[in-house]
This record gives sequence, C-alpha cells and structure tokens, in this order.
Amino acid sequence: MSLTKYQDKRDFKRTPEPKGAAHPKNSAKELSFVVQKHQASHLHYDFRLEWKGVLLSWAVPKGPSLDPSVKRLAMPVEDHPLEYGGFEGVIPEGQYGGGTVMVWDRGVWSPEVPDVDEALRTGQLKFSLYGAKLRGSWALVRTAIGGSPRTKWLLVKHRDGYASTEDITVEKPRSVVSKQLLADIAKANGGDTVKAAKGDPLAKARTPLRRRA
Ligand code: MN
Repeated sequence: MSLTKYQDKRDFKRTPEPKGAAHPKNSAKELSFVVQKHQASHLHYDFRLEWKGVLLSWAVPKGPSLDPSVKRLAMPVEDHPLEYGGFEGVIPEGQYGGGTVMVWDRGVWSPEVPDVDEALRTGQLKFSLYGAKLRGSWALVRTAIGGSPRTKWLLVKHRDGYASTEDITVEKPRSVVSKQLLADIAKANGGDTVKAAKGDPLAKARTPLRRRA
C-alpha cells in the first residue's frame, strides 16, 4: 500500500487532484468506498476500497452491474490517497487521466472474508457495500482473460435483495455529491463539456427503447 505510483504519475502544480498522504494509523471504524465516473480518453468507473490508509483502485470500463450474471472487467490501477474519494472536478487535458471526474457513488464497505490481505493475494475478495447506489454483497475476483499477461479482475454482484437487472449506470447517472452530470461538472470547472457529455446517458432518447426491450 503505497502512493508512490500515484504521485509519480501526476504533476500537482497542474492538476487539482489531491497529492495525498497514506494514513496507516487511520483508526476510523468504518472503511470507505467510492466509485468515480471518469471521462478520460475512455469512459470508465474507478472503483476504490479503503484499506490500510489508501484507496485500493480498479478501473471498470463499463461500470458496476447489479445483475449477478454480468461480470464486469476491473483493471487494477495504482493505490489512491483517501482524500481522492472526495475529488470531483476536471483534470486538465494533457495531464494523467485528463478529463472529468464525478463522485458517482460512495459509502462504506465491510469485508465478507476473515483476512482481506489474504483475499487480495488469492484474488477472491468478497465484501458488502453500503452506498447510495450500490448495496449488498459483491466480489472482486482475479482472472486471466484470454491469457493476457496483465492481471485482470472481475467485479460481480452476488445474488441478494439488491441484485437487479436495472442498468444502474443508465438509470442513475448523476453525482451523489452534486447531483450533476459529467457535462455539468466539466462546465463548472472549465473542462471540455463536449467530451464530458459523451459519458452522460442520452436519457430521453434511450429510456423508451429500453422500456420496450
Ligand atoms: Mn480513472
């Protein structure tokens, strides 16, 4: 658990993202989680779990699915500082991850395994989420899709009362902090609103099609 990679990738004179510091002695009883919707070169959802003073992070291109039959690819990325969980705004173009960031969901999480470090090592982390949008039991499972040398994980919803076939990324596209869409956040922070809007669902155009299907 280190922020060296995170800090090496960024120029904090140019990006408004927090430089952060590891908080190994954070004694808060509850562990936070955050999902940040990030319209960079490609849209993705950064799924972050607090553990040992940092936010363990995975980039989920399609975002979480509430449907237990749908496994969502989750690429591990560098640990982020805890402060990052409150970041919503614009990373300047040309900087690492340049684009618009939204706090799409946040809350607390709890492990469903006795030993989180062991679960991370073996690639079988089961946990519960208590967020505004994501709740109930989930898993992050390490896999080797297509024999790729890069380690990949899958984010999967377990079957419980919070499982659903509703596409939550489409049905609930707004920030849990500001209630804004990506384009609004870009506009408010001097970002590229056209690029940001590509990550916002075309609610009015899409909803009738989905309902009919
Ligand atoms: Mn990202």
